[in-house]
Amino acid sequence: MLIFDIKRYAINDGPGIRITIFMKGCPLSCVWCHNPEGVSSRKQKLYTKKKCIGCRTCVQACPQQALTLTPEGIVTDGTRCTLCGTCAEVCPALAMEISGTEYSTDALMKEIEKETVFMDRSEGGVTFCGGEPLLHPEPLLDLLRRCGEQGIHRAVDTTLFARPEIVRDVMDNCELLLVDLKQMDSA
Ligand code: SF4
Ligand code: SF4
Repeated sequence: MLIFDIKRYAINDGPGIRITIFMKGCPLSCVWCHNPEGVSSRKQKLYTKKKCIGCRTCVQACPQQALTLTPEGIVTDGTRCTLCGTCAEVCPALAMEISGTEYSTDALMKEIEKETVFMDRSEGGVTFCGGEPLLHPEPLLDLLRRCGEQGIHRAVDTTLFARPEIVRDVMDNCELLLVDLKQMDSA
């Protein structure tokens, strides 16, 4: 499963102090999306021109010679880029980023368990959001069940854009649904 961010000490994603896990991929494409890097289910390279200082470090470091500095900023040749992440590692201005890191559910549980001391003292927990977490029902339900076994408060931030049986399974395995309804039709 690709994760595009893990936010610790989150205080706006449910009660108490939480760890928020951002799952990559969403079936919607709202024009007002505030996490556009979470829409695609695939790993992506992101470039923020206003942060770029034009130092060419990335151009020199790219093993595929995929980058060119132009008057409009860095341009990537998508036919060459392998998403190796070298340009993001060397960029001194954080203008290059790789969005999407592969995590197993075991690895995510370890990240969640690191935060239990803060959760316990603040009546916080874990929040799964995205993207759309219900796009990944199997790993999501596995994580929810494992957190439940440990008594960790579970919130899911979702648009509910999923099959009804998935919504029901998630409802049965969390304490809080944060529902972000988008546009609906009359049906
Ligand atoms: S991700 Fe790797 S291959 Fe792609 S542009 Fe950056 S350094 Fe080059
Ligand atoms: S390394 Fe970063 S700051 Fe330098 S040219 Fe590349 S993107 Fe811009």
